[in-house]
Amino acid sequence: MEGPEEKSFLKINFSVSPSDELMKRISFPNSEIKRIAFKEKPGFFYRFQFETCFDYLGKKERVTNAVYIFNGKPIRGDLSEYSVTEGNEKEVKLPDYKNDYFIAKEELKKLVQGKTNEISRMLKNYLEKEKEKIEESFVSETKRFRNDLNSIAEKLMEFSKSGDIEKIREQKKLINSLREKMNFDEIEKDKTRALQLENQKHLLNIENKLVKMTIIYYPVYVFSLDIFKGNIKKSFTVQYDPISETVLGLACESCSDEIKEVVICNSGHAVCKYCTRVCDSCKKEFCKKCLRNSCDICSKKICKDCSVRCFRCSRVVCKDHARQDKLSGYFYCRDCSKRCDKCGDFKDPFTFKVSKRNNKEICEDCFREETRESIVGGIFE
Ligand SMILES: [Zn+2]
Ligand SMILES: [Zn+2]
Ligand SMILES: [Zn+2]
Ligand SMILES: [Zn+2]
Ligand SMILES: [Zn+2]
Ligand SMILES: [Zn+2]
Repeated sequence: MEGPEEKSFLKINFSVSPSDELMKRISFPNSEIKRIAFKEKPGFFYRFQFETCFDYLGKKERVTNAVYIFNGKPIRGDLSEYSVTEGNEKEVKLPDYKNDYFIAKEELKKLVQGKTNEISRMLKNYLEKEKEKIEESFVSETKRFRNDLNSIAEKLMEFSKSGDIEKIREQKKLINSLREKMNFDEIEKDKTRALQLENQKHLLNIENKLVKMTIIYYPVYVFSLDIFKGNIKKSFTVQYDPISETVLGLACESCSDEIKEVVICNSGHAVCKYCTRVCDSCKKEFCKKCLRNSCDICSKKICKDCSVRCFRCSRVVCKDHARQDKLSGYFYCRDCSKRCDKCGDFKDPFTFKVSKRNNKEICEDCFREETRESIVGGIFE
């Protein structure tokens, strides 16, 4: 880019409390903020002042326009609502603004388009009128020539009737000199030249010049937050831009959307409220990703803690539909655990034994009991 004639720095100051501003915009409904601290870093936007020169019909018309670029986009600039002070070049490290300049130039084209169209339309009208005049003058010249030729021809006819040789010769000379004067090729060339000249006279030349560039800087607040949900600790780095009044850096760990209301899942994921679910079994809050399991028997959505894999059939079931064998510690689903006819408990089906008393299958505990009873009974028999 060609450098501006003048470069200046402005600084915007904010008197609000950055933490208050942040807290107006984000919330943690199921956790607690334990620490909040921030640092400042400079944010930038630019004002490019252009002078556009419309050069046409021998005159130069100059128009100035200011284009504000913020975050790579043109914005309606108005600094009056901010507290602005003279900036200091040494205070900030200026980022590369080449791209912002190109965007400003594109925006400028849009800004001067109306005027460009207006002048172009006017020049086109002028040119059309001039062209008409040229055409008309050539047409009337040709007409005059034809009239002259016609009147000579009439005279020639008269003189040939009367046989006046001298006068006939005179008229023939006149015709030749007229013909010499009227060279149609030359006339056509003259006309083309005249039209080209008019075209050039009615051209519009536009020149844009960057007259002044203003670098406006302001503080962007970078926060570090520690939040707690019971024993779960989460840390965030969040940015608050007071110009755009936007918060950056809080994204849902499930759907990746930017979030304002941050819900902490029971496994420690920060998610949006739309990605929050409740475990049907323990009723704790989880994110979508953490509630992938469902009970194969009752279809309840269940968390990892509430899911059990049956040792026999490998199905995942909720704790309501599983039994743990106290002896082996293994879980069995409702369909795979066996009810002991004697004690009524659900037990590991692999440990059942046949009762010597009634040939029924009973659990290991009951079988042991039976054996003990029979030994004791045998002693006293
Ligand atoms: Zn989400
Ligand atoms: Zn659960
Ligand atoms: Zn989760
Ligand atoms: Zn279930
Ligand atoms: Zn099973
Ligand atoms: Zn039993």
